[in-house]
Amino acid sequence: MTDTNRIALVTGANKGIGLEIARQLAQAGVSVIIGARDPGRASKAVDTLSSDGLQVRSVALDVTDHGSIAAAVETVRAEHGRLDILVNNAGIVDAEDGPPSSAVPDAARRIMETNFVGTLAVTQAMLPLLRLSSAARIVNLSSSLGSLAVNGDPASPYYSARLIGYNASKAALNMLTVQLAAELRDTPHVVNSVSPGYVKTDLTGHNGFMTPEEGAKLPVYYALLGPDSVSGRFVEPGGETPW
Ligand code: NAP
Repeated sequence: MTDTNRIALVTGANKGIGLEIARQLAQAGVSVIIGARDPGRASKAVDTLSSDGLQVRSVALDVTDHGSIAAAVETVRAEHGRLDILVNNAGIVDAEDGPPSSAVPDAARRIMETNFVGTLAVTQAMLPLLRLSSAARIVNLSSSLGSLAVNGDPASPYYSARLIGYNASKAALNMLTVQLAAELRDTPHVVNSVSPGYVKTDLTGHNGFMTPEEGAKLPVYYALLGPDSVSGRFVEPGGETPW
């Protein structure tokens, strides 16, 4: 399969790392669908990439809305008949999240709904189309903050980042990666958790060490993995992340 034949859906691709993942996949010749929950932001993202000479399209997709997911599946099915790459990028933080002793429980619920349950629902709904690919690649945008080992290691630079809702949502996402990889074990389809690094976006209040362009590089690498690729891994720019 050549890259020009590959069809990719990137969720939450109207800004930040997702927009750059869409850009880099399109630059690699992949046919990219920008998933975005807001039509205005979706068309702005399409315009941005089109003005750079890239051909992308968008689909309305709110990962917390079953009707929206079902409609997106039908759009991809009608326009492409299959899906080769799914990048589960949509994600949130919440101002009421925090350490276990003080985080607002409803904030944790909201975060889980988007980062874990939403990703599970999108992946499950897209799976029949992904199974029609000769070699589907699923990339889950995780975080080093989702590592149980990192959270328990006083020597880790992330030790003090105590966001029970966000960190638990990414740990749960990693469980999706591991269990889905096991389900897909005897197929050509792979799924991996990729931490992009600490990236300057709206989500981090524009703190971080990397630009969105740099943060997109590893997720794109895993989206374009060749045949006989690894599956069920948790990686970050420096290598494997401990679970
Ligand atoms: P961002 O700039 O805030 O972008 C997040 C994207 O997700 C936006 O397009 C947003 O859409 C979308 N989104 C949120 N809720 C959604 C929903 N219900 N349905 C569909 N789309 C939704 O954040 P980012 O930093 O690029 O983060 C992208 C991913 O990387 C996230 O999963 C994040 O957890 C992960 N990550 C980021 C970092 C970092 O340092 N930045 C580190 C590790 C992991 P709207 O514009 O409509 O809100």
